[in-house]
Amino acid sequence: MMLPGRGPRVLLRRLRDVMAEQEPAQQKLDRIVHLIAANMVAEVCSLYVLVDENTLELFASEGLRPEAVHRVRLRVGEGLVGVIAATAEPLSLAEAQRHPAFRYFPETGEEDYQSFLGVPVLRGGALIGVLVVQNRTPRHYTDEEREAMEIIAMVLAEFLHSPEVLALREELGANRVRSHHLRGESLHPGLAIGQAVLHEPRIAIHQFEAADSEAERRRLREGLKKLRDELETLSAHPGLAGSAHAAILEALMMFAEDASWIHRMEDYIRLGLTAEAAVMRVQSDNRARMLRQQDPWLRARLHDLDDLSWRLLRILARGDGNAAGLNGQARELPEQAIIFARGMGPAELLDYDHHHIAGLVLEEGTQQAHATLLAKALGLPLVAGVEGATDLVEQGDTVILDAGRGEVHIRPDAELLESFQTRMALKQDARKRVLRLKDAPPVTKDGQRVELLMNAGLPADLEYLDELGADGLGLFRTEMLFLMQQRLPGRNEQESHYRAILEAASGRRVLFRTLDIGADKIPMFMPDAREPNPAMGWRAIRIGLDRPGLLKMQLRALLAAAAGRELWLMFPMVADIGELRGARDLLRSQVRLFARLGRDLPRKIRCGVMLEVPSLLWQLDALLKEVDFISIGTNDLMQFVFAADRANPRTARRYDPLHPAMLRLLSDIAQKTRARAPEMPVSVCGDMAGDPLEAMMLLGLGFATLSMPPAGIGPVKAMVRSLPLETLRAEVPKWLAEGEGTCSLREAAAQFARAHGVEIVQV
Ligand code: PEP
Ligand code: MG
Repeated sequence: MMLPGRGPRVLLRRLRDVMAEQEPAQQKLDRIVHLIAANMVAEVCSLYVLVDENTLELFASEGLRPEAVHRVRLRVGEGLVGVIAATAEPLSLAEAQRHPAFRYFPETGEEDYQSFLGVPVLRGGALIGVLVVQNRTPRHYTDEEREAMEIIAMVLAEFLHSPEVLALREELGANRVRSHHLRGESLHPGLAIGQAVLHEPRIAIHQFEAADSEAERRRLREGLKKLRDELETLSAHPGLAGSAHAAILEALMMFAEDASWIHRMEDYIRLGLTAEAAVMRVQSDNRARMLRQQDPWLRARLHDLDDLSWRLLRILARGDGNAAGLNGQARELPEQAIIFARGMGPAELLDYDHHHIAGLVLEEGTQQAHATLLAKALGLPLVAGVEGATDLVEQGDTVILDAGRGEVHIRPDAELLESFQTRMALKQDARKRVLRLKDAPPVTKDGQRVELLMNAGLPADLEYLDELGADGLGLFRTEMLFLMQQRLPGRNEQESHYRAILEAASGRRVLFRTLDIGADKIPMFMPDAREPNPAMGWRAIRIGLDRPGLLKMQLRALLAAAAGRELWLMFPMVADIGELRGARDLLRSQVRLFARLGRDLPRKIRCGVMLEVPSLLWQLDALLKEVDFISIGTNDLMQFVFAADRANPRTARRYDPLHPAMLRLLSDIAQKTRARAPEMPVSVCGDMAGDPLEAMMLLGLGFATLSMPPAGIGPVKAMVRSLPLETLRAEVPKWLAEGEGTCSLREAAAQFARAHGVEIVQV
């Protein structure tokens, strides 16, 4: 029923004029609904705004009783408006009262109105309100009218998030601006309070309505061409050949040609939108579909399309400045930035000045993702798998990140904020106490010296060695260098990398682990084989033995870097002793080569193995005769013993590392190694070693060397120094015997710590 020839274009221009005027926000909202009603020839136009998780409030109305404004409130799902909010779909009815969800609000006087057209007001795919028009007589609204309403809703969405409307919402009642409490998987613990920074910030469009549609269509076409050129240039990068990244780019290029996507955007331009507004409009539809989509494959495709829209928006905005906030990296970070991203590569994370990053929230990301490894190395609290986080957060929002519990609080209320500030202050005190222990030796209360080593993977990690007072590096993950680069690092580059590590360690022991790639640690230069069970697939030593050239090159680099020094090196994921022998043969061949060439060799070579595949437990006698040391990787050992994928959020924390089964198995290893090779260095280097309570249990089982992420050193040292070790060792066998049939000995351990004053500061 829109007036002929008037279309949404004229209305959009008028709405923008109203929004730009100098008058109170409420007055503007009132004029806006008045204008919409007049333009749509409707008796009623109402705007409902989502004021908290589950409540919509009537914010402005033309036609309903004025006293109903800010009084009428309904739940999401309640009444016709609530149904639109719940489904994020438009609803058009000739006889509204016949709809089963119809609800009558006496304060509005709406019984007189028969026909009803409501559309969701979406911002970045998230619902923020509902816009409704109503007519007294029964009528069917046309598709054009529905589309016009959707475009108006898009413009309104931006206005509803303008500072003046946000201020109005604040004025109307304290916590009206929604708080969100989201959960994800904790990938690296830590508490942080800071300001949200959207890694891919929303682009704010200044101009929605176009003066010249043909010119906008040309701009869109040119933008699309640039988009394809950009993708092509990216995928032509020599380092990407055959990699997973190249495949992703190829898929994106296909989407960039997608005719229906392009036609939908052109349709909106025809209706009077600028090219940017048309892209955003289609993106918004797409995101709403994405949020509803259950099928993971389709969801991922919609994600791709979403990424493409961002790129296109950036290209268009770059051209003529009809947008702001284009590039996260170029912007200064606030003092305590909490970065929100859907996914992130390690290089993107490195683009930021990490001194200003207080934490990371990712919608995607797994324990072993490259950015996760880097975030851990940088000591950044990280929660991943937080669905919808980037849609719900706004740039600059206050955020509490309780990464240890996998919790993210966006726009928290004052009480919550205060309680976290207290918690953080307490933690900082505890941390200071722990750091003061830097020069204190890790000696138990009853005088036993234990060794605390650090796990590392980047030269930057070495800074912590002195800062925390660790005894050395119990696990140096050499694959990190390979994961950070687009091409295979050459022998010389590897050699200087390893040498830098040895020098920084200044004489302290460094256990180099040979390449542990494969599974989900796929370097960019390696073709992604998409194995059905990657954790149990072609990885680590298996790749090293099948591609001996790669392993030999690494061994040569290690031999050269450690010339004149002691070299400790170990092989990951050995499942059969024959694999260890094969790897040692390769090592011997490289040592012989060095000798033939007259090159300097390490003063002493110690060759060890990671004990992380259960099959090795039943080859222990033979193994102990053939290695110089053992390092137990509890991360992989847990995953294989419990058949629980450590990279899958559903299974990663399903079983407690303090499960009696795991502890009995570790106890067996400790006893057997002590009995058969009492001098053999045996360390534990999985994440368990860095958790004070779990580390206490490891010491109780008989281990005396623990290697852990840097953040664990201080808290574990504090635990050690307050621990009566012999008393604990006398208790543990009893717990193991009595624990049969339970799923965790955590409570027994915690009780012991409390009873004996053992300091357990959670990392
Ligand atoms: C382990 O598996 O426990 C381990 C320390 O190695 P990573 O975590 O690198 O697999
Ligand atoms: Mg491992």
